[in-house]
Amino acid sequence: MLRPFELHRPETLTDAATLMAQYGSDAAPYAGGTELLLLMKAGIARLPHLVDVKRLPGTATIEMRDGALTIGAAATHRAVERSPLVRARFPLVAGVAAHVANVRVRNVGTVGGNLAFADPHSDLATLFLTFDARLELVSSAGTRELPLDQFVLGPYETARQPEELLASVRLTPWPARTSGCYVKFGVHERPSLGIAVALTLGAEERVIAARLCVGCVSPRPHRIREAELLLTGQPLAAIEAVADEAGALAGRAVDPISDLHGSAEYKRHLVSVFTRRALDVAVARAHGREPQRGYAHAVVV
Ligand SMILES: Cc1cc2nc3c(=O)[nH]c(=O)nc-3n(C[C@H](O)[C@H](O)[C@H](O)COP(=O)(O)OP(=O)(O)OC[C@H]3O[C@@H](n4cnc5c(N)ncnc54)[C@H](O)[C@@H]3O)c2cc1C
Repeated sequence: MLRPFELHRPETLTDAATLMAQYGSDAAPYAGGTELLLLMKAGIARLPHLVDVKRLPGTATIEMRDGALTIGAAATHRAVERSPLVRARFPLVAGVAAHVANVRVRNVGTVGGNLAFADPHSDLATLFLTFDARLELVSSAGTRELPLDQFVLGPYETARQPEELLASVRLTPWPARTSGCYVKFGVHERPSLGIAVALTLGAEERVIAARLCVGCVSPRPHRIREAELLLTGQPLAAIEAVADEAGALAGRAVDPISDLHGSAEYKRHLVSVFTRRALDVAVARAHGREPQRGYAHAVVV
């Protein structure tokens, strides 16, 4: 049952930040409500004040700013999926947005709510790590920026101070000659695994930068530096030969727990297998080919 609460509807981001400072931990920002209202109904969160942040001017804007794709916190997944700018310049981001949850959740659920909630089963946080995402946080004391990997601290835990509001996320475009993909796997409502890969090619078709990010199976999404090191410097033609080793490194680097998504051992196995598959897709795309093969219970974006 939903307990009574007061809904505040400020007109500006500054007014919203003032309300957050005034009510402190008695208040929470309220965007699409897809997570927040569930928590309140279950009695897990008892909040006498909600501050509506989804109608604040400018906070749902999606635009290029100083060379980075800037997505306002109140932009819905559906808006990202349908944005001509995102589709043209960041097709992987639009493609992943189109596979978040279901259309009802995508219509109201926001990018800011997804990142601020820090559910380990988020697709966005994993994918956004490959774009060196930076978050803009606003409070009555001012504005600060944080890299995404310093923002998400663990399951449902972020570096956001209680009175701070997430205003936007900035994604830096991949360098030229980068190919990649996002692979998600799962049999439940939310993904059991998300893997994002980006390989940048330099002279003589060698990988000069590799990004491999894994989400859902560790307390927070993270890059697999050991595998990135292995991949960097390899000729594109050699990636297939080292993909198993990269998968094994990734499987060892994650920190899973056993839960309804599977045992810890099974999750390590999934990470190894899907790392290899994600690398296959990235290599095929670097050759200008689109792999035909699908994988059961998996989506390849
Ligand atoms: C059935 C289902 C399936 C899902 N499947 C997926 C999936 O496949 N992939 C995936 O990535 N996600 C998935 N999700 C998660 C979904 O993306 C999030 O529920 C949604 O994006 C949250 O946004 P919201 O606007 O509804 O947040 P709310 O519920 O309004 O808020 C969530 C939390 O964030 C805080 N918050 C909201 N906005 C701000 C802000 N601007 N500043 C600071 N704090 C803020 C709130 O106080 C609250 O703590 C799924 C959710 C559901 C219900």
